[in-house]
Amino acid sequence: MAETADQIYARVQAGGDLPAPSVTEWDVFPWVVRDGEIAPKPLAPPAPEEPRNGEDGVDCNLCATDRPDVIWQDESWRVKHLKQSGLPVVLILEPLEHYDLPDLDEHQAAEFGVLTVRLVRIIESLPNIARCHAMRIGDGAEHLHMWFLARPKDLLSVRGSFSPDWDDILPPGPEEIWRADLAEVARKLATHGGEALV
Ligand SMILES: [Zn+2]
Repeated sequence: MAETADQIYARVQAGGDLPAPSVTEWDVFPWVVRDGEIAPKPLAPPAPEEPRNGEDGVDCNLCATDRPDVIWQDESWRVKHLKQSGLPVVLILEPLEHYDLPDLDEHQAAEFGVLTVRLVRIIESLPNIARCHAMRIGDGAEHLHMWFLARPKDLLSVRGSFSPDWDDILPPGPEEIWRADLAEVARKLATHGGEALV
């Protein structure tokens, strides 16, 4: 069971001011402080596209097998976690083989859609979770990877499109709660097929 908003709030309050997350140093971070005010960075001039990780399946980090971070897998898809972060549950759905989203045939697209709905439904059924955001960006790696981010119930600062920023800002909660929630998601997903691996 994920922490309640009160538990998260008390834990954060006890830790003092939150540090700026590492994303503020990313070159794509769009804000600067100018004259004491937050302002957009100047728009960089157009430049050739940079290669993404694993283009055409060459040296793809996501094609790697024997991953300890996989919580569920079937013959075509897997769900993995990342390093524990500020939001209670953050998962990635990806194909075992190297496909980007437009590469999926109709059958694979149907599987992808069904798994996406199941994951959102399961994550939103966890206690103390209000929403599960699902998003595909893919500017960093070509291999399809769909994000699922759980937003805590009643923690209204964390609503909406800044949830991924709060995932980096908030300190991680108790590891045993996080692992229990991962196991619960994997177990429920496996009731439809595939195998829970945690
Ligand atoms: Zn790949």
